Amino acid sequence: MAVPVRADLVAVPDYNIPATAPDAVLLNSNEVPLPPPPCVVEAIARAAVDGHRYPEWFSDTLVSRLAADLAVPSAWIAVGCGSTSLCRDLIQAFCSPGDEILCAWRSFDAYPVFARVAGVRARTVPLDAEHRHDLWAMLDAVTPATRVVFVCDPNNPTGTAVGSRELLEFLDRLPERVLVVLDEAYREFVDDPDVPDGLALVRERPNVAAVRTFSKAYGLAGVTIGYCVAAPAVVSAVHKVSVPFAVSRLAQAAALAALDRPEDVRARSAAVIRERNRLYARLVRAGQPATPSQANFVWLPLGERAAEFAEFCARHGVLVRAFPGAGVRVTVGLREENDAFLSAVARYREP
Ligand SMILES: *Cc1c(COP(=O)(O)O)cnc(C)c1O
Repeated sequence: MAVPVRADLVAVPDYNIPATAPDAVLLNSNEVPLPPPPCVVEAIARAAVDGHRYPEWFSDTLVSRLAADLAVPSAWIAVGCGSTSLCRDLIQAFCSPGDEILCAWRSFDAYPVFARVAGVRARTVPLDAEHRHDLWAMLDAVTPATRVVFVCDPNNPTGTAVGSRELLEFLDRLPERVLVVLDEAYREFVDDPDVPDGLALVRERPNVAAVRTFSKAYGLAGVTIGYCVAAPAVVSAVHKVSVPFAVSRLAQAAALAALDRPEDVRARSAAVIRERNRLYARLVRAGQPATPSQANFVWLPLGERAAEFAEFCARHGVLVRAFPGAGVRVTVGLREENDAFLSAVARYREP
């Protein structure tokens, strides 16, 4: 007889795992298109020499380095095995079974999954007509059971960002007992000066946590390491629930080496922003319903056509991410990769 699995896991959807194919143009996982520079690869190799030893428990060397770079005390930083796992740790640390989290929908699909796995209800609030967080509707959806609110900024998968003023007003009106997790995975690709900086908010508000990652602009998606900046009470709660030694020696070394090359990150982000803006303009010109983006991807709200459009692109050698019934998210790749996508779009005919 099969061992019975927890009954409520049946209701948890399986992840929509991105496809991969040899020789395909991969625009479906929000990765950056170029590999890490040799110095980062060498740092990973050097760390492998001590591969028989456990890594630092709380990534102390990396935490000190981040503290210096970001000008916050070390006690304000927790490093995790990707910022996705930090989102999970924050739910574990702040919610008990029966509590609620609140997030926009569509937003990052991991938030409701993590909540349900923790026995926590995920309340979702639809994005507004421009595919942005509807912060006022989110305020109205706060209940006495709400413990954590996720604001994904810029939002995955729509690429939209909230404005500084509206976020401040939202924070002013939100009960202080509610933790706001500002997920800034795409922060480095923002070119609108009105998008708030989570680190500035964290310094002033004990109920805000900013989470960031090395997986996107730092080009280390295959390494998976991220960090959370928040008041020390939040950081020590995250430490309590984190998996011991989950952040490998190799990941810590890679992040430290990447931090030594801020000019690489700036150049990579600037190239992505240029290509994103070009891709967006070309899509609009082609009559596609592209959404203005502050991230390294562009959202096409194609509704019922999403899956079919993505399949069409795949047949033309370009993998994009379909959210069936909602839209398609296209990651910004190299210029020639984006051109391959655009030429598939030019051949596409609505059924
Ligand atoms: C990519 C992404 C992350 C970070 O992923 P990790 O690889 O786990 O660091 C976090 N949040 C969102 C919304 C993302 O899209």
